[in-house]
Amino acid sequence: MMQHYINIKSEHPSSLLFYRLGDFYELFFTDAITISQVLNLTLTKRGTYEDKPIPMAGIPHHCADQYIARLLKEGFSIAICEQITDAKDGPVERAVTRIVTPGTLSDDSYLDADQASLLGSLFWHETSSKACGAIAIVELSSGRFTVFESDNFDLLIDECDRSGVKELLVHENLSEDKFAKLKSHAWLLQKRPHWEFHKETQRRALLDHFSTHSLEGFGLTDSSDSIVAAGVVLHYLKITQKKALSHIHSLRLENLEHCLLMDSATREHLELTDSQSKDKKHTLLHLFSPSYTPMGLRLISRWMLKPSNVLKHIRQRQNALLALLNSNKSDDLASILSSIGDVERIVSRLAMYTAKPADLLSLAHALSVIPDICSMLPHDDGLLSIIAKQLLLLTEVKEHIQKTLVDPAPSHMRDGGYINIASDTLLQEYWDLKYDSDHLLKTLEEKEREATGLNLSIHSNRVHGLYITISRSLADKVPAHYKRKQTLKNEERFSIPELLELEVKINNAQEAMFDREKILYQDLLRHLQTYLLQLKKNARLLALLDALLTMSKLGSRHGYNLPSFEDNPGIKIEEGKHPILEMHLEHIVPNDITLNPSLRMMVLTGPNMGGKSTFMRQTAVLTLLAYMGSFVPAAKMNIGPIDRIMTRIGAKDEINKGRSTFMMEMIETAYILNHATPTSLVLLDEIGRGTSTRDGLSIAQATLRGLLERNRSMTIFATHYFELTKMTAHEGVFNAHVGVHDDQDTITFLHKILNGSTDQSYGLHVAKLAGVPNVILELANAYALSNQMPDTEKTTVIPQILPQKDRLGEKITTLLHNRNPDEMSPIEAHSLLTKIILLYNEQS
Ligand code: ADP
Ligand code: MG
Repeated sequence: MMQHYINIKSEHPSSLLFYRLGDFYELFFTDAITISQVLNLTLTKRGTYEDKPIPMAGIPHHCADQYIARLLKEGFSIAICEQITDAKDGPVERAVTRIVTPGTLSDDSYLDADQASLLGSLFWHETSSKACGAIAIVELSSGRFTVFESDNFDLLIDECDRSGVKELLVHENLSEDKFAKLKSHAWLLQKRPHWEFHKETQRRALLDHFSTHSLEGFGLTDSSDSIVAAGVVLHYLKITQKKALSHIHSLRLENLEHCLLMDSATREHLELTDSQSKDKKHTLLHLFSPSYTPMGLRLISRWMLKPSNVLKHIRQRQNALLALLNSNKSDDLASILSSIGDVERIVSRLAMYTAKPADLLSLAHALSVIPDICSMLPHDDGLLSIIAKQLLLLTEVKEHIQKTLVDPAPSHMRDGGYINIASDTLLQEYWDLKYDSDHLLKTLEEKEREATGLNLSIHSNRVHGLYITISRSLADKVPAHYKRKQTLKNEERFSIPELLELEVKINNAQEAMFDREKILYQDLLRHLQTYLLQLKKNARLLALLDALLTMSKLGSRHGYNLPSFEDNPGIKIEEGKHPILEMHLEHIVPNDITLNPSLRMMVLTGPNMGGKSTFMRQTAVLTLLAYMGSFVPAAKMNIGPIDRIMTRIGAKDEINKGRSTFMMEMIETAYILNHATPTSLVLLDEIGRGTSTRDGLSIAQATLRGLLERNRSMTIFATHYFELTKMTAHEGVFNAHVGVHDDQDTITFLHKILNGSTDQSYGLHVAKLAGVPNVILELANAYALSNQMPDTEKTTVIPQILPQKDRLGEKITTLLHNRNPDEMSPIEAHSLLTKIILLYNEQS
């Protein structure tokens, strides 16, 4: 067995090998050590190899899923080696039946409902005169398969990042610098051999997979780089899944131009699908959660990460949202959609023959409500009526499933009982043998009585099984084919071939039922394959309907409004609010903004904690929501063409990638300066902080001028450098600040964006609010005064500062001064001691 294990392991060196032994998956050698560490399992030993004990760790097979899910999250891939023959048929044979990797999940137990598991591949080639390439991205759980081509490496990587690729396949000889770039992302990188990147081989493989004569229908020419990328992905799926991939039946060449672009830093800063706090509740996507089906939320997530900038599509969605808002059917529609489940993923499992009976019943249910759904949708020429027209009833599919399966399905297939007995005569027969054998025996008994004319009866016991009993006085009258089994005092027991046969059948009935159910279930899955395309189409339409309804309900629940789209560049928001802040704060101050080519650079000043970053994020988020086709949290919003949203907000070290905060800031600033256009929305939050004031200010000033005059982008520039407020001399620049109510010593942040600049940062006030000790604040005040004066006139006295312990000693000395213990009452002594302890606690 160990030799077999070693052979198989050598074929899957980069995966953890789960080797099935009875009720366990066992792991050996370094695999065992790895999982014992990652999953905190006991490490044991089994036998020896080259005179050393073999480390072993095991996982019970019935709860393997939860361990696999955890390993996948850690970025491991897992080869599952199953017993493929039964122990009772001789020596057990084993083979790898599946390789589970982070990018190839389709099983619900491993998948997050709102996040897809995506596999990507990158093909990149460079010559001295030309560099270009393609990526292919496939989602196994839905069958969605897209390719992108570009001569810009960063753009391709960004697209992988945006889509949420979990595992990326690259050429084994990809250059060092490119490989280094790919390493700093959250995906598992897999190097693939050179031969897989052969264009002609992959072209043929694709033609074969799609059963087409040409790839032109997918938008690819014979020389497209996409062919290689797509072929590599498909080949990897075939070797890992070892299953039909018939739900991947088409390929789309997507254009990176028809969408509002956002780089990965911007998506992170805006906290679209992940938040810095790691709490999903703080993400923009959470605003739409829960949708009525998981597929609806996934679609919204795709719209959010890659909003279309095709006005026709946006207006179509807007009209659908309005129609749903004004419809009196939308609550009913919502409750129907809530009941249909994840049709998209069920259909994919069906294609891979991994769908369970409960999946199919759920599918049948979804089909059964389609007539109701259609009757609730309007019949105009909008998106909703297109959905109604295109949804397919597929009554025969529904009926076939309902006829074949037991509803509700038992929780495990291993216990049987999921196929409707009445749907198959053979199954009915086994069922009768198992559960109605008394009746069969009675019939046989009567038949024999009639044939022999004897008063015989059929009985059974555990030792002898079934037999025919006759009283001894009649025993010599039985026919010749009666075989004597046993003689007792008063009776004689016989067996006949018919009874023996029945006994074997009854004993085997349970297993025969199991086997028959399995066959019938496979038949059902096979039969349903013919409907895959139609079922996928239905899933897509239902997801679309859900996304629209969820967006419409969000708008009506919170009193949002629809933005209006204009031809001229610009953004104008009245009484806008940050939707996430609104969810978590009771009182939120609405704010306005106008940006357009002649007022394109807002220099935003004001105290820390005043609300600058929130205001900037809010402007970006509302723009994004508008381009998704959604309602927005604003009294009024007008928006023109926008090609990109680019942000540099907040400080984030990436020490693990060897980049300091300032380095990160400059990388992002450089990216913005190299890519922003006059229709880009650019948000820069306090750039130039992580270096000396002089360097920082110079960089900030130069960046502002660059964006203003070179890129000419619509920009909000939040800063503490008051020098920047003097830039209004340049055409296009205007000042704004966040309002503060300053009442002597206490300040209140109004969170209101007002015209003009401020020359106060209130840094010391914020420091006080944060609990900086008074002694330090006093010192800071003195320094502030001193720094404002020219060196020649410096008169401010900078106070002395004592080590903390001495200040405590000083205070205690004051307390103890002139005290005499003999003159103190116990209460006085207690209160003095309490004061001293309090002082001590404050200091430590
Ligand atoms: P700044 O960037 O100016 O330091 P932030 O934008 O980070 O300030 O805001 C600080 C805090 O102020 C936020 O966490 C939020 O609690 C509150 N805040 C910001 N804007 C508003 C607003 N419009 N209405 C109410 N509270 C706000
Ligand atoms: Mg800020």
